[in-house]
Amino acid sequence: MSAILIDGKELSARVRAQLVTRLKSSGRPARLDAVLVGHDRAASVYAENQAKTCAAVGIEYRLHRLPEGAGYGEIAGRVLLLNTEEDVRAIMLHLPLPMGVDVERVQSLIASDKDVEGVNPANIGNVVYGRRSLVPCTALAAVEMIESTGIELRGARVVIVGASNIVGKPIAVLLMRAEATVISTNKFTRELAQLTRGADVLVAAAGVPNLIRADMVKPGAVVIDVGINRVVDSDGKSKTVGDVAFDEVRAVAGFISPVPGGVGPMTVAMLLRNTVDAALR
Ligand code: NAD
Repeated sequence: MSAILIDGKELSARVRAQLVTRLKSSGRPARLDAVLVGHDRAASVYAENQAKTCAAVGIEYRLHRLPEGAGYGEIAGRVLLLNTEEDVRAIMLHLPLPMGVDVERVQSLIASDKDVEGVNPANIGNVVYGRRSLVPCTALAAVEMIESTGIELRGARVVIVGASNIVGKPIAVLLMRAEATVISTNKFTRELAQLTRGADVLVAAAGVPNLIRADMVKPGAVVIDVGINRVVDSDGKSKTVGDVAFDEVRAVAGFISPVPGGVGPMTVAMLLRNTVDAALR
C-alpha cells in the first residue's frame, strides 16, 4: 500500500483562490504590516516571497525595516505604533530579533486582533477557550491538512510529537476542541513508538530528521510532518527533510504530507487567511 499524498501546494492554492474571491466580493482592502529587524538573509528572502504571495492574492504588503542595532525599546515602539494605527489590521514579526531581545516579550505586545501569526499568548489562550481568535498559522495548517483527508476527528486517537508553544501545543488544543483523544509527547516521553503505533493521526513536530520510522506508524494512519530540517545527503548536497522517514512511512500510512511541499506552503496560506480575516473583521 502507498499512502495518499496530502499535497500542501494544492491545498494552499485552493485557500489562496478562496481568499481572492472573498476579498473581491467584500470590496475591502487587506494589508499585512511586517516588521523585520536587521539583515538576516533567510528573513529577507522570506519577506520578499511574502510580498509576492500577498500581491498574488490582492493583499498589500508593507515591510517595516529596523536597523540591525535596534534594541527592545525601538522594536517594541514600532509594534505599539502599528497597534494604534487604524489602517493597520494585520501585524507580523520576522525572526530572528537581535541577540538579547526577548522575542516572546515583543510578540506579546502585538494587539491580539492584529496578531495574524497567533503568537500573542492571548490568542493561544483564546484557542484553549474556543473563542474566536487568530490561531497560530502552522497549527491551523496541520489541522486543515488532517481535515482534508475526511477523517472523523471526534474520538480519533491522535499523537503529537513535539510540544512547543507555537506548534505542538496549539495543534493539541485544536484537536482537543475537535473532540479527538490527544496525546502530547516531548523529548522526555518514554516508549514513544508504543504511543505512536496506536495513533489514527500522527503529527510530527519535533525538528528531528527521520524520527518517525515505518514501525512507529499504525497501518492506514494520517501522518502530518511539520518538521523542517536541513541535512546533508550522501552526495554531500544540502536538502530539506521533515521528521518522518518519508519513503518507508509512505508504505504504511493511509495519508502522508511531504516535506517540502506539505505543511510549509499551507502555513503561508493560513497567514494570508488570518490577514484577510483580520481585515474583514
Ligand atoms: P521546538 O524546538 O520549539 O520544539 C520541539 C519539541 O519537540 C519540543 O517539545 C521537544 O521536547 C520535542 N522533541 C524533540 N525531540 C523529540 C523526540 N526525540 N521525541 C519527542 N519529542 C521531541 O521546535 P518547534 O518550533 O516546535 O518546531 C518543530 C519543527 O517544526 C522544526 O523542525 C521546525 O523547523 C518546524 N516548523 C515548521 C513550520 C512550518 O511551517 N512547516 C513552522 C514552524 C516550525
